[in-house]
Amino acid sequence: MLKVKSAEEIEWLRENNQIVSKTLAELGRMIRPGITTGELDRRADEFIRDHGAVPGFLGYGGFPNSICTSVNDAVVHGIPSDYELQEGDIISIDCGTIKHGYYGDTAYTFPVGEVDESVMRLLRATRESLFKGIEKAVAGNRVGDIGHAVQQHAENAGFSVVREMVGHGLGSNMHESPEVPNYGKQGRGSKLREGLVICIEPMINLGSRNIKQDRDGWTIRTMDGKPSAHYELAISVSNGKADVLSTFDYIEQSSTGIQTQQ
Ligand code: MG
Ligand code: MG
Repeated sequence: MLKVKSAEEIEWLRENNQIVSKTLAELGRMIRPGITTGELDRRADEFIRDHGAVPGFLGYGGFPNSICTSVNDAVVHGIPSDYELQEGDIISIDCGTIKHGYYGDTAYTFPVGEVDESVMRLLRATRESLFKGIEKAVAGNRVGDIGHAVQQHAENAGFSVVREMVGHGLGSNMHESPEVPNYGKQGRGSKLREGLVICIEPMINLGSRNIKQDRDGWTIRTMDGKPSAHYELAISVSNGKADVLSTFDYIEQSSTGIQTQQ
């Protein structure tokens, strides 16, 4: 049985995810060639604490930093370092918080300066596939409906879906049931109920879907070395349209994100 959240718990989760969304916008304003991923991490840590939360990733499963910074062929779980971003890179920043004993968890992939059009297409298609999934996150649908919608959109655009890493339930633990894969069959999987809070987070590759892990024990990379994109939002399932608890608006209103129609 999946845990559904009370109205109060949903507000705590919303507060966390709003802090994460604002943190990502703050980092987006700093992104430029020459800045290090370590500098972004330090600013995130400070910004989260200034907003009365604590970084949700720091120490989670032994993770050493407050954000994950995954550049180019890194899919997720990249560790901040003294790497200086370069013109043409893409960087996925995944960020989490804890406040009131509940988690926030949201991610955005930013272009650094001018990025190849083929890679920009990957970013736009990945972001769109997330929203296709969110459209299916309605009470009465099933987890497979979400994955199917994400997969269809990404594959129709000519990209491939990472299978090993998935979205998840969100609450007083960062990773709760159900798992929310970015592929699947319509009508399959757990039934979605009102008050279920989940993170949908497509990880979409320009080349093949295969991945490997670095020797650092964290960083997940594409096997073929081609770029990968990652966008994540937390949503609460309701009877009708999903209630999106995090947002890309702060990022995209400050024009640091990707330009989209949506
Ligand atoms: Mg995340
Ligand atoms: Mg997540």
